[in-house]
Amino acid sequence: MRIGVLALQGDFDAHRRRLEELSAEVVLVRKPGQFDEIDGLVIPGGESSTFLKLLGESTFQALNKFVHTKPTFGTCAGAILLAKQVENPHQPGLDVLDITIRRNAYGRQIDSAILEAASSFGDEPLEMVFIRAPRIERVGEGVEVLAKRGDHPVLVRKGRVMAATFHPELSPDPRVHGAFLELVKNGTK
Ligand code: GLN
Repeated sequence: MRIGVLALQGDFDAHRRRLEELSAEVVLVRKPGQFDEIDGLVIPGGESSTFLKLLGESTFQALNKFVHTKPTFGTCAGAILLAKQVENPHQPGLDVLDITIRRNAYGRQIDSAILEAASSFGDEPLEMVFIRAPRIERVGEGVEVLAKRGDHPVLVRKGRVMAATFHPELSPDPRVHGAFLELVKNGTK
C-alpha cells in the first residue's frame, strides 16, 4: 500500500515515520503528478492558510480531485482543509467532509494540551495532542464520530474521508493511523 503525505509544510515527517512503522510505503507528495502514485493521502497539521498559499493552482486541482475520489486523512490543519465550512475566519477549502470547523478554537499556542485518556477510541483510552487546534462545531448527516473531547467530536469519518483535530502522529499509540490504513485497504466498508 502506498500512502502519500502532503509535504509542503507542517509535521509531515512524523506521519511518514508512523506510517512506515505500520509497514506502509510512503511518498512525500509535493507535485501534482505524484497523486497518481498513491492509494491514500494524509494531510498533516501545520497552518491551513499557509497550505492554501503554497499549493498553487495545479497542485490544488490534483489534490482536490484526489480527496473527492480516494481515501484521505486530515489532521488539524489537514482537517480544516477537508471541511465544508471553516470559521474564524472563513476560509475556502476542499469541501469534501460535511463538518463546520472553527480554527484556533481552544486558545493560543500556550493553551495547547496533551489529554491523556480524556477520550476513548474503540474501547481503549486515547492520548490526544492538541496544538492550536480547531474545534468541530457541527457534523453533517452520516458523519461518524469516532472520538470526542468534552461535547465536541475530535475524530470523525465519512466514507473514505477521516479527520482529526488533534495530532495522532505525536503520540506513541498507532491505532488512529492503523484505522486509516484499514480504510485504504477495505474501501469505505
Ligand atoms: N491553527 C492551525 C490552522 O488554523 C492548525 C494548527 C495545527 O495544525 N496544529 O490552520
